[in-house]
Amino acid sequence: MDYHTYTEQLSQLVALPSVSCADPALDCSNKAVVDLLATWFEPLGFDCRIEPVLGYPNKYNLIAVRGSGDGGVVLSGHTDTVPYNAERWEQDPLALTQKHERLYGLGATDMKGFFPAIWAALQAFDGVSFKEPVIILATADEESSMSGARALSEQQFPKARYAIIGEPTGMRPVNMHKGIMMEAVRVNGQAGHSSNPALGNNAMEAMHTVMTEILSYRADLQARYHNPTFEVQVPTLNLGCIHGGDNPNRICSACELHFDLRMLPGMSIDELRQGLQTRLTPIAEQTQTDIIFSALFPGVPAFEQPANSALIETVKKLTGHNPESVAFATEAPFLQAQGLQTVIMGPGSIDQAHQANEYIALSELAPAVKTLEGVIRAFCV
Ligand SMILES: [Zn+2]
Repeated sequence: MDYHTYTEQLSQLVALPSVSCADPALDCSNKAVVDLLATWFEPLGFDCRIEPVLGYPNKYNLIAVRGSGDGGVVLSGHTDTVPYNAERWEQDPLALTQKHERLYGLGATDMKGFFPAIWAALQAFDGVSFKEPVIILATADEESSMSGARALSEQQFPKARYAIIGEPTGMRPVNMHKGIMMEAVRVNGQAGHSSNPALGNNAMEAMHTVMTEILSYRADLQARYHNPTFEVQVPTLNLGCIHGGDNPNRICSACELHFDLRMLPGMSIDELRQGLQTRLTPIAEQTQTDIIFSALFPGVPAFEQPANSALIETVKKLTGHNPESVAFATEAPFLQAQGLQTVIMGPGSIDQAHQANEYIALSELAPAVKTLEGVIRAFCV
């Protein structure tokens, strides 16, 4: 393991800001990161395509391919990071710093550190012609809209059979996570003087009925769905924020509620939205209000790669670990939608992700590179 090159490469990546955020004041382009990655992988024989993400100006995916065929493996990572508070860091978040056998920097573990690990693993295949392709995918906007992974269906993504997403799992294979939806319900009533309820139609009172109905839907879902592999074994629904009305002596004319729903594998976003809509429609009739139910973002489906699939069997052997579930959502369902058996497995720990003083431990790197070499050997050589 060439730690010097790894550290040099990771410091180049960390130095390029690539925050993705729904707040346009914080959001950055990821172009410099994908351009840099292309300069690393082209000399290793990869054909590099940099594809714009339609509808998201200045956002790009890198698709780099070496070899051809219908099988092969995708090694996938996201190029963006979450926003950061520089004043909470003990060193410059954009200047990779080595201390106590750790490399500190924004995105070091989540997940810029995966790309130099791929580069290191490929050194074992200098001059080897692959029977099936190795494809490197570097996506935009995983931390915000997942627009990069969503765009793959329009980007003529090459054929492959397997995908490793190198999110930090300490190189333990993860084959399951929950999905997430974030939804809004807006109730429009009619304002009026509070002394006479007949003068208006109280949106907050209608929202009270809406909330009761949503909580009863949650209870139904939790009675119907259960998965013992998760720490929280049932789907969850959290009423997150509510805004309505303006004055105690005015009939409330409008009220808006935001909530999230985290579903288990096997639950579909479309069916859940339908289920919610079916419960809200009668309340609108009964209360004579307008109830508008909408998504705050398209949602990330739940993910499950069956434990008996070829990919999971292979990484189980390579790592000595059985597949696990995690609490965070990833791009895995979008790669699976491309027909790929998919597993989440990368160096570093999720405990350091999205934190000040994020780091990756040097001790994790050599085993990660060795496992990636094993994956390439198993599927491409
Ligand atoms: Zn990540």
